[in-house]
Amino acid sequence: MNAPTTPRRPGIAQRVHEAMHPAGDDGHDDAFDPGACRASGCPCRGSVDLGSSGRFLCAWHAWAPPDKAHTVTHGLRSHRWLIDFVGEVQAMYRDGAKGDPWVARAREFWREEPRMQPTATEARHWSLYLWRLREELSHRIGLRADAPVPRVRQCEEEGFAARAVAVQGEEVAA
Ligand SMILES: [Zn+2]
Repeated sequence: MNAPTTPRRPGIAQRVHEAMHPAGDDGHDDAFDPGACRASGCPCRGSVDLGSSGRFLCAWHAWAPPDKAHTVTHGLRSHRWLIDFVGEVQAMYRDGAKGDPWVARAREFWREEPRMQPTATEARHWSLYLWRLREELSHRIGLRADAPVPRVRQCEEEGFAARAVAVQGEEVAA
């Protein structure tokens, strides 16, 4: 009589494997951009190497639950317009357009959805806006329940200056 086997929890290797070969995928479509996410059919760049395998996944595939890999691929493919927009903003910034051009482009791009336009703080701090765009993509493909809100720098949070003064006061008093 065979002892029942206990299913093991999926480890990192299995997660990588399942992201690369979703159910129904024969794994032979590797005609193959070395910079691409190794999840089959994913339109993103690979940037996360779980377990130092030399096989890079995009951040969405790397951290998604294994059973969601296929859904994530589908979501990313249907949001190419947003992925392309993130790339466009990055390129505008990288190419030296550090002033307003990318801000104007983003405001125009999101004309119908003002909540997605860069805030005054995000317009000054490009990386905060990029972070929100990535979180928004996570939200739209179902990896994140709530829509992200614009971030503020810690030093610009309400009350931060008052707290800083209070801490300095304690140090002086000590
Ligand atoms: Zn991917």
